[in-house]
Amino acid sequence: MGSEEQVKILIVDDVPEKRLSVEVVLQDLGQHIVSVGSGSEALRQLLNEDFAVILLDVNMPDLDGFETAAMIRQRRRSEHTPIIFLTAFPDDTYANRGYSLGAVDYILTPVVPEVLRTKVQVFVDLFRMTEQIKRQAEERVALAHEHAARVAAEQANRAKNEFLANVSHELRTPMNAIIGMTDLSLREQLSPIVREYLTTVRSSSHVLLTLLNEILDLSKMEAGKFTLQSVPFNLLELIDDLARAHRFRANDKGLELVSSIADEVPSDFLGDPLRLRQVLSNLLTNAIKFTDRGSIAIQVASVGVNGEETSLRFSVADSGIGISREDQQRIFAPFAQVDASSTRRHGGVGLGLTIASDLIRAMGGQLAVQSEVGHGSTFCFTISLPIISRQTQQPTNNAMRRPAESADDMAFPNHHPDRPHEKLQVLLAEDMRANQMLVLYALKQRGHQVDVAADGREAVDRAAVCTYDVILMDVQMPLLDGFQATAAIRAQPSGSRIPIIALTAHAMAGDQQRCLDAGMNGYLAKPLDIDQLIKTVEAYGSQPLDNDCPCNSNG
Ligand code: ADP
Repeated sequence: MGSEEQVKILIVDDVPEKRLSVEVVLQDLGQHIVSVGSGSEALRQLLNEDFAVILLDVNMPDLDGFETAAMIRQRRRSEHTPIIFLTAFPDDTYANRGYSLGAVDYILTPVVPEVLRTKVQVFVDLFRMTEQIKRQAEERVALAHEHAARVAAEQANRAKNEFLANVSHELRTPMNAIIGMTDLSLREQLSPIVREYLTTVRSSSHVLLTLLNEILDLSKMEAGKFTLQSVPFNLLELIDDLARAHRFRANDKGLELVSSIADEVPSDFLGDPLRLRQVLSNLLTNAIKFTDRGSIAIQVASVGVNGEETSLRFSVADSGIGISREDQQRIFAPFAQVDASSTRRHGGVGLGLTIASDLIRAMGGQLAVQSEVGHGSTFCFTISLPIISRQTQQPTNNAMRRPAESADDMAFPNHHPDRPHEKLQVLLAEDMRANQMLVLYALKQRGHQVDVAADGREAVDRAAVCTYDVILMDVQMPLLDGFQATAAIRAQPSGSRIPIIALTAHAMAGDQQRCLDAGMNGYLAKPLDIDQLIKTVEAYGSQPLDNDCPCNSNG
């Protein structure tokens, strides 16, 4: 109730002239006056309305003022409504009876207008204040409820995200074994039909793994457990790598894939190359998926320099099916797909663009799309990155900087799969039985000798007594984790010269930098890719570290 709002005043008197005279006196107060001629009429009014004060005549036929007051007090709604008795008889016993029935005042008639007005005004103000306090209390209770509901919803959401993150992370371990064992089986002599079965198992496992990675990413972002890295990277290499990695699939569909970086774009930046790569990879995968004819282009241009930062515009354009204006509004929402029918031709669950746009937002940009149905689509975003080197150069092949999962033959100049290779002495520090078997089989097939340490402590002990060409180091292990074990091995007399390759969960991008910071030389993403594993082990193992090896300065 605002201070402008009228409050109600009830006048109860059986004599119309007396009622009128009181009304006239109170009119100046500007409130809503209700005037009734009997006690029972007053009780009826009080059933549904709240009054600031009741002016009650004592002498009335039927119900007199005292009886009426007694009944008013019995009702919950009016039990505290102030009552002022009006009477022509200056008799103390009257007054006492009135007060004992809960009257707050007792005024003789004919009334002195000023006195009556002042007294009634006090009750009007009191009523207003009480209403205001009541309203504030209600608002506070509502706010408290709202806050409690919000906290409960946030807790439930956090629990859901943590659950999803844990489940998808845990599911990756058996997936690792399924994919690895399938890869190993495909290297054996197999009948065509079994080869076909296993090829299907492998491609389905990769679909499942992509889904797990997407759920893990999304839940981590929603749970706020996601941070971007800021590490040096070579943009030209990154784009070159990406184009090469996607060109095979594009060519398989008869599509051309071209990449171009404008001349003025500097080469080296600080940023999160893995996440940038993830976004662009997703856009390229979609472009290839939704294009049947024509070409795909990935382009980078510099659109401004601000001090030590360059604004870079990335775009991935295709000549595919295109997206209608209406669908362009919704494809960035989780699980949104233009064609969600059960007969759709393409896989995916509609999380890729959600994650990509969240990642670009975290990098300070916005992922946008321009498209016309039947004429292709262009996805683009602009982000500012700190420049390390203004040089604009051709991609170099720095094997140590390149994330292991993106490596190709050029990343490993020492690796020639078909040529005779050195037999290496490898230490595998890994507590999971399935992963141990996978690495053992894969490396033994190539003729390497592999010792297994089931925890970090054992790895340190073995490294102290044997000379290894390369150590594969799981990050999460009992007793000593991969970081601690690496530090302990590096502290041993010959420990500084052994290449140590981390085995990390791909989704934990931060871990990869931590591995390099902890003194490891490279990393392999789980689930392990057998070819990648062999290439990496043979490339590192055939070239012991020396003091100015680039991997030592990496990260
Ligand atoms: P999905 O895993 O289903 O591809 P995304 O979030 O990456 O999930 O994409 C959501 C939807 O947006 C796709 O299902 C598709 O309908 C549409 N889309 C994305 N990229 C393209 C593209 N380049 N051309 C046409 N449609 C696209």
